Amino acid sequence: MDEETRGGVVALAAVAGTFLALLMAERLRPLRQPRRSPWRRWRVNAWVTAAAFAAGTLAVAPPALAIARWNEGGGIGLLHLAPMPQALRMGLGFLLLDLTFYWWHWANRRVPLLWRFHSAHHIDPDLDATTSFRFHPGEVLYSAPFRMAQVAVLGVDPVTYVAYQIRSPRRRGRRRPAPSSPTLESTPAPR
Ligand SMILES: [Zn+2]
Repeated sequence: MDEETRGGVVALAAVAGTFLALLMAERLRPLRQPRRSPWRRWRVNAWVTAAAFAAGTLAVAPPALAIARWNEGGGIGLLHLAPMPQALRMGLGFLLLDLTFYWWHWANRRVPLLWRFHSAHHIDPDLDATTSFRFHPGEVLYSAPFRMAQVAVLGVDPVTYVAYQIRSPRRRGRRRPAPSSPTLESTPAPR
């Protein structure tokens, strides 16, 4: 098993363990009582998650990983402008991926067309760990160019990219509908 694959397996196991622990904790000590049976929601969220995962695996990961490998081989991107220990470069890369993703998330909440897709994440009738995986596959597909640009400009390596991609999948901001979305104003938002 090469370093990239090993990093992916470790990160995936950490995400799965954290996900199950959070789901159990949320069931035992809910912040507020769920409004619906969790099983039906979980079934919907599982299908949406599967579609989003397929889109990400087929359309986003291959080109982004190819760029990350290219970065690593050629020392390309902002993270390679100054010499530094590899661990520091990876940590910085992870943080910069998250920082730049903030602006992508901001655009998804502000641009009406993007919000049409991103709202699928925010209209979950209740909120739990499964909500963090609930993303419209269309949103995942159109994020591919952004993801490729992000990896290329920053110069992150493949292990950092994989670790970032499968970390707490989408603690992408708050779980409230965008204020500008009239279609969701009547939908009570999960916190
Ligand atoms: Zn959002």
